[in-house]
Order: sequence, then C-alpha cells, then structure tokens
Amino acid sequence: MSAKKQTYSGNQGLVLEEALIFEIGVASKCGVDMEAIPDTGSMLGDCAAEQAVDLPGLSEPEAMRHYVRLSQKNHSIDAGLYPLGSCTMKHNPRLNEKMARLPGFGDIHPLQPQSSVQGALQLMDTLAHWLKTLTGMPAVALSPKAGAHGELCGMMAIRAAIEAKGELATRKRVLVPESAHGTNPATAALLGFKVDGIPADANGRVDLQAFKAKLSENGGEDVAAIMLTNPNTCGLFERDIIEIADALHEVGGYFYCDGANFNAIVGRVRPGDLGVDAMHINLHKTFSTPHGGGGPGSGPTVLSDRLAAFAPLPFVVDEGDGFKLIEDASQTDQPSFGRMVAFHGQMGMFVRALSYMMSHGSDGLRQVAEDAVLNANYVLASLKDVMTAPFNGPCMHEALFDDGFLKGTGIDTLDFAKAMIDEGYHPMTMYFPLVVHGAMLIEPTETESKATLDLFIGTMRDLVAGAKSGDLARFKQAPELAPRRRLDETLAARNPVLRWRQPEPDTQVTGQAAE
Ligand SMILES: *Cc1c(COP(=O)(O)O)cnc(C)c1O
Repeated sequence: MSAKKQTYSGNQGLVLEEALIFEIGVASKCGVDMEAIPDTGSMLGDCAAEQAVDLPGLSEPEAMRHYVRLSQKNHSIDAGLYPLGSCTMKHNPRLNEKMARLPGFGDIHPLQPQSSVQGALQLMDTLAHWLKTLTGMPAVALSPKAGAHGELCGMMAIRAAIEAKGELATRKRVLVPESAHGTNPATAALLGFKVDGIPADANGRVDLQAFKAKLSENGGEDVAAIMLTNPNTCGLFERDIIEIADALHEVGGYFYCDGANFNAIVGRVRPGDLGVDAMHINLHKTFSTPHGGGGPGSGPTVLSDRLAAFAPLPFVVDEGDGFKLIEDASQTDQPSFGRMVAFHGQMGMFVRALSYMMSHGSDGLRQVAEDAVLNANYVLASLKDVMTAPFNGPCMHEALFDDGFLKGTGIDTLDFAKAMIDEGYHPMTMYFPLVVHGAMLIEPTETESKATLDLFIGTMRDLVAGAKSGDLARFKQAPELAPRRRLDETLAARNPVLRWRQPEPDTQVTGQAAE
C-alpha cells in the first residue's frame, strides 16, 4: 500500500483538493452578466446595508467544479458498502426517487386547499394502512420527523394516557435496558420521567429477573413504561418480550418498543402480537428513504388501542367520498395530545416508503428481513474465528464484535476503524452498544451482494492479520489515503468554527492549518 504522495498541486491523482469557497472566490468576480441597476434611489431607509456582504465570486465553471468536488468528498451508500450498525444504510432504489418527483407529489404545498391534494392524502392513508398491517397495530401517527421524534410522539401518547387516568403524579419511572440507543433515555428524561436502567444478561438480552425485580419495586405503581428495542442494539431478538409485556401491563405500565431495527423482522413478526403499545418506524431505515447526508428522516409511530385516541394532530381520515386532514382539536372528539410539527410530516419520504413497499410486495418485504439477517450472519460466521463475538449463537440483522481480538496488539477499535477507511470502507459503528467493550457493530443490510461481502470479509481478515503481526503503522497512521487524516472530533464538536473569517494579512493559511 503506497502512502499519500507529496504533489505540487496538493491533488492526489484525480482526487482533487478543494479549498473553501471563500478562499478561492473574490468579491469582484461574477459568474453572470447582469445589467446595471437603474439608479432609482433606495426605498430601504435605515434598513439598507452599510457595507458589502462579502460573498465570494466565482465564474460559472469555477462554481461548478467547486460543488462537484465537494460532492465527491461525501462518502455515500451510492459509492460503496456502508456497514454502519443500527443505521441500516441500504440501497435507495431509484424508482422511489422517480415517484417522489412526480409533480402531483413533488410540486404541492401544505397550505393548498385539501380538495386539490386528494391524491397526496390518499397516499398517506394507504401508507398508514400498510404500516398498521405490517406491525399489527390499530393506529399510526405519520407526522414525526425522525426515529427520536417518533419516540417522543409515543412517549407523549403514553404520558397523555397516564394523565387521563389521573396517575401522572405517581407514574414517573421509565425502565430502559442498558443496551438502549441513547435517544431512549433522552426521550424519557425530556418528558420529565425518571430513567431506571435494567442490566443485560450474559446473552446480551434484557435480564428477566432484574427486570421483574425493578418492576416490583413499589408494587410497580410508579412505572410509566419500558422502552425496549427489539431486535435489540446487540443485534439480538429479545425472546422474553411477551413475558415482559404481560408483566408490565399487569402493573398498569405501557410498552414502548424502539422499532428502528424493524428491518430485521418486517413481514415476519408483528409487534402488535408482542404486546407493544407504541413503536416508531424509521422509514429512512426499513423502507429505504435516503438519510444521513442524503435526506431527512421520517418516524411514523404506531399506537395500540390503549393509546390510539391520544395520537397527535393532524391525521388523515377517509370520509368515503374523499380524504380529510384533521388539523384542529375542534374537528375531532379524540383527546389528542396536540401537534408535533407545523404540517403533516415528510411527504417526500411517505412517497418513497410506499413506493418501496409496493415494489417489494408482501413476499418481497419478508425477504428483505430474511436476507438482512442472512447477510449479517454470513459476516458473523466468516469473521468470528479471527474477531471476537461477545455473544454466542446467530444474530439478527447486525453482527456485533468486541475488541478482545486486539488485546496485546496496541491497536484499539478506533485505529481499526480508521484503517478500514484506507481500504475504501466506511467504518462500522464503534463503541456502541456501550455494554460491549470496544464494540464494532456491522450491519451489511440485504442489498449487498455476496461478492461485495466476500471482499469486505477478506479485507477485515487481512486487517486482523496485520494487527496481530504487529503492523502498527497501518493502524496508528490511518487514514493515510483519505483527504483528511485524524481530525480532533471532540474539539470540533465542542468548539465548532462555523464561520470563515478573512485571515490576518501576515498569517498564511495552509492546508495543514485548515485541518
Ligand atoms: C436510528 C435509531 C434511533 C433514532 O432514529 P433517528 O431517526 O436517527 O432519530 C433510535 N433507536 C435506534 C435503535 C436506532 O437505530
């Protein structure tokens, strides 16, 4: 492997360096010919700007190249395998994009009269139907705009139900397994609940005895809910889920299921059959709508009979001769907990998700789950003789390893992940779930071919061999081939520099300093 080469231009082959637009543009340049503004005098009074706004000026080809080069620095699922566990980075079919751009969906505005957007409302109603069918739940709130927002929606419905029973002052405790995604305890805390952790057992699942002990404190009268992920964040199915749900319901608590991992069970398991009261579905994970740098999330939340009446506004009703968006509390008898978003949710994601469902069909959706689990188990089985898997047995949709195999090498999980970048792979999820030391969580998804996985597995095995043979440089120096090396991510997060400023005349800005 050749390290980065010093070049005169700073470019690496055809991977071109790119400075900030402010560094390459000059205020005096303009990419378009504009006619001089006729001197009509300003009507802005004292609102008129007193100095130039200092926008960088570029010619059309310069502007074009700047943005194209920047776009090439954004690693994406369209460029290569993106095995980020828990994030379900699967291929986004182009058919969905085509559907979302149909003028009847893409060019409408939420403030249009409802009579002029009947097709869009029907699409929302149809999507709701399939989400309810796939989950076995009677109601769904479409408006939440991400998984965490869906958690908030479900927990607000739970809080409203507890309040309606006059128990809000006493039901304050929310049980959260230690392996939970950080958004679970954050959601509970945001709503004023007290988070009470449940330990995992030696098999990486909720410790049933510990759960029952927690539940029986104070006779369970102060338990508002449990927030449980299934399959959980160790990539394992919670086998005791029905027993957990029954015990919880017996003491009057509610079951929030984090459904972000629905990809592993869609078409195979209906959460409604497991005693779930509320669960968000990440359309951007399971139903393949572009996310991360590629698009917004969407977190529809299904609700059980016990919670359906508290669903947020607005929602669509089929009135037989047309569809209506119920936007105001005065239009319904239901004790809705209110409104979470300005309009109705992420229309573009609704279209993509329904397009995905309809193009797969019910048999295809079941196969999604089967293939996602098969691919993850292929990775697990192909690597567990050289990497260490903390739990025995097969996994669901993601393969979890710990850093046991790196013991004594001087290399840690972070070094290993950085070395993957030099090999052309986005690293897996690192150090999550927290219950596993130096965790590496790999989610290949069902859209990767065997050939792609075989190359990935071969690369991982080669990296392990390198680590064990003491090739420290390959890890400690990594990434060597990326446009930037190791950045101080903590400093960047704590002290973000979001605004470019003209450097002092005597200081030279170099590529190094910009890092
Ligand atoms: C992705 C994820 C979430 C949060 O979803 P966002 O859309 O990122 O807000 C919550 N829980 C789990 C288990 C997840 O994987």
